[in-house]
Amino acid sequence: MDAKQILTLIETEKIEYVDFRIVDMLGRQHHVTIPAYAVDEETFVNGVAFDGSSLIGYRGIEASDMVMMPDPASAFVDPFVEAPTLNIVCDILDPDGTVYERDPRSIAKKAEDYLKATGLATAAYFGPESEFFIFDNVRYSSGPDGSYFHIDSEEAYWNTGAEGKNLGYKVRNKGGYFPVQPTDTQTDIRNEMSTLMSQAGLKVERHHHEVATAGQAEINFRFDTLTRTADNLLLFKYIVRNVAAKYGKTATFMPKPIVGDNGSGMHVHQSLFNGDTPLFYEKGAYANLSEMALHYIGGILHHAPALIALTNPSTNSFKRLVPGYEAPVNLVFSKGNRSAAVRIPVAAVTPKSARVEFRTPDSTANPYLAFAAMLMAGLDGIKRKLDPRELGYGPVDKNIYELSDVEKHEIRSVPGSLGEALDALEADHDFLLEGDVFTKDVIDNWISLKRAEIQQVERTVNPKEYELYYDL
Ligand code: GLN
Ligand code: MG
Ligand code: MG
Ligand code: MG
Repeated sequence: MDAKQILTLIETEKIEYVDFRIVDMLGRQHHVTIPAYAVDEETFVNGVAFDGSSLIGYRGIEASDMVMMPDPASAFVDPFVEAPTLNIVCDILDPDGTVYERDPRSIAKKAEDYLKATGLATAAYFGPESEFFIFDNVRYSSGPDGSYFHIDSEEAYWNTGAEGKNLGYKVRNKGGYFPVQPTDTQTDIRNEMSTLMSQAGLKVERHHHEVATAGQAEINFRFDTLTRTADNLLLFKYIVRNVAAKYGKTATFMPKPIVGDNGSGMHVHQSLFNGDTPLFYEKGAYANLSEMALHYIGGILHHAPALIALTNPSTNSFKRLVPGYEAPVNLVFSKGNRSAAVRIPVAAVTPKSARVEFRTPDSTANPYLAFAAMLMAGLDGIKRKLDPRELGYGPVDKNIYELSDVEKHEIRSVPGSLGEALDALEADHDFLLEGDVFTKDVIDNWISLKRAEIQQVERTVNPKEYELYYDL
């Protein structure tokens, strides 16, 4: 859709409001709403002014005037607002009309421009699998059962004491994948999410209950180009959260809400194309992977410690990245193996579906920054011909959780904490600065925002400390 078509749509669909949306540095969406009669062709040329000083990671109040520039191609009708409302995703510009260098969406677009400029490919496709939990209510307190916080959920039977008991269709920890109803109590809610996603333009491929007991869900939508997929992911999260709210529940994308059960990841499938020609396929090679795909993997794994500061950017992210919960801990690649950081799906692979799956990320990532960073790491691998086999990143086709100590010794791990990942990013970010996709300012700003989060968490007394130290 272009601006003219939007204006026609406003007429034909009797749209009353137009909602302009941007993200802050962390990936939270914000919006301003304008009556449809006040929207005209000028709006798509001059944009919509807003105050950038209240948004996390942006301007100080001394230079706070900024502009949202709508991207007409992103428009969809909001299913949650009573008055017919059209939502449009925007880029952020400075008042002089140039791109604001910290705008995550503009960074994603620059990464796509950079890809084209390298001549290596014309498009990068991204397909995220964003898992989440649906809870009735979450209270942050130390429960009588010794839990760190208390989750009230009809679906949830997540605590200890389940051994040898008849749970009456409630699911044990890690038992959620994927019994039918009545054990699965969330089919209707996932259906409703999927219906609204389809109506808003996402191509939903499937949905299912996920492994964790307490209402963990996954809904998959079809891959697309980088920036478009980041837009789609925000739309996806918006729909998930609002449908959950309609049911009186809350959805969370937090990576590890429940100690002792599976967490929520955001595996990201990636491939490069030249026009219609897929570039990651070579019949007969290991996992039918082309040299280019191997080098892309080499780049992802080589830069992984730094990359993870953008793909797993919360202190909670590292509570998910521990052994035993299908979350990857080891920096290796493998076909089929879900304990590797990079998996090559091998079921029914055709040249067009050949791809790599980076399993480390989670949905606390800002998708614009995370996808851009993954592409930059992969491209650096291609340019430098980083061969993951020569660099000691596998392939490892055994269950890595069960390797012997000697075998494990050879394998590098993901960073153990957000602090370690930020240190890695501080030491290794030149690959992100290529083509001015990221700037030094963006990296520094990110590191300081995230270090401030770590400090808040570290200064907070953790309920576990009472158990360990209260009587010492
Ligand atoms: N929830 C797992 C993770 O944290 C993945 C489970 C799966 O999709 N097989 O990545
Ligand atoms: Mg999946
Ligand atoms: Mg899954
Ligand atoms: Mg997956």
